[in-house]
Amino acid sequence: MSFRRRPSLVAPVFALAAAGALLAPRSSRAFTLTGWSLGLDAREVGVFDNFTDPSANDNVAQHPNWPGTSGVELACWKAVTEWQSELFGDGSGDPFQPDGVGSGGANFDPAWCGAVTSVGGVDDNVISELNGTGGGVFAFTEFGSNGWRIRLYRDVTWDDGPGAPIPGAVDVQGVVTHEYGHALGLGHSTVTGATMGPVISGDGTSVRSIEVDDRAGVQAIYGARSAAKPHVASVAIVGNELVLSGTGFVPGSDVWLTSASLAPLPAPAIVGNLTPFPDGTLHVPLAGNVGALLVRVPGASGAALSNSYPVADAPGAAFAYCTAKPNSLGCTSTPLLSGNLSASLPSGALVTCASLLNQKFGLVFYGTSGPHSAAFGGGTLCVHPPIRRLSVQSTGGSTPPTSDCSGALQYDLNAWIASGADPALVAGAVLWLQGWSRDPGFAPPDNVGLTAGLRATIGP
Ligand SMILES: [Zn+2]
Repeated sequence: MSFRRRPSLVAPVFALAAAGALLAPRSSRAFTLTGWSLGLDAREVGVFDNFTDPSANDNVAQHPNWPGTSGVELACWKAVTEWQSELFGDGSGDPFQPDGVGSGGANFDPAWCGAVTSVGGVDDNVISELNGTGGGVFAFTEFGSNGWRIRLYRDVTWDDGPGAPIPGAVDVQGVVTHEYGHALGLGHSTVTGATMGPVISGDGTSVRSIEVDDRAGVQAIYGARSAAKPHVASVAIVGNELVLSGTGFVPGSDVWLTSASLAPLPAPAIVGNLTPFPDGTLHVPLAGNVGALLVRVPGASGAALSNSYPVADAPGAAFAYCTAKPNSLGCTSTPLLSGNLSASLPSGALVTCASLLNQKFGLVFYGTSGPHSAAFGGGTLCVHPPIRRLSVQSTGGSTPPTSDCSGALQYDLNAWIASGADPALVAGAVLWLQGWSRDPGFAPPDNVGLTAGLRATIGP
């Protein structure tokens, strides 16, 4: 059975407090279950990054096992990964969790959907900060009829790791690991040192890694990992396709990918009803904001869903993301990259923003700190600060008094990289880029045009 039910004998909210809260005496020492479980259609996880502490978003060191994320998103992705059916990615964990991340050993795997733009409701599976005071409580999990919502109190100073928090701060990854255990259906454990203990001592890093008792708890809900469960062993990027190798792929398989763009709420992008190739591999188009994927085969239980597997961008790969602002003539523009984006070639990677208003000043700007989704100039700022601007150009196109969408901006990114002006632009670095141009058809301060975003990985 895979239906979900609302727990009837427990409070709808579980709170995690600092050490010092009273423990209820119990006759046995073990995990507890709330009667709640998540079905296959409630595996998505998103993060709404409304965190206000600088220390919650100062980890900019990206990790190949959790590609394309940093800050609080990376901390939350690691946290939910810890409960999945097997070790994540190449199994090496990160330098602060060298025994690996992902040791639940149950038929349970979350579908990472990345950053979203809304707190969501109690069924929407979003982690966010709550502007409130917990009075010693750090965080809590709410349950709807079909999902959960995790809130971390703003009066706590949060730290995204990956090392120990700054003095006085609390570890996002550890606390979210605990709260996600509630979302899975675990109550508090009476076992000393368990991640699901009712209180945490110190800075919270000790509960990043689940313990024997927590593992037994998640297996009690979802069953021990089935030998028949599909398994993703590796993912290669071949041309414009992702090629998945593994076991247990059958006709009718679906591939769940990280959401294609910053969405209001988390939802995997699903490529459905695939037939494996004769060599057993599955092929899906390379598109969207690739970060992780899972394979779902026909079936209703968690044993029909594979492990989650990270997918780093191919060097030189580029994807559109985010939303363009329609200009005053109704045209929209998405940056396109042609050529081989390279840290060693002197030229030849052209980024072009077409369909712009003609004969207006404009420029392309970029950052290397990730995507963004902030209101700006009547549209969306798609690039996380800090931002660097390329030189101002005229969009050209039709001669006045004609006014149309024949304008364009074009830059050779390889020449910019080769200039050495930005030492952050090395092989493997990821650029998030957007075009900006004047649009006098809108009243100030919204008299600007904004293209969609482009995410591109620099090749060797
Ligand atoms: Zn708790």
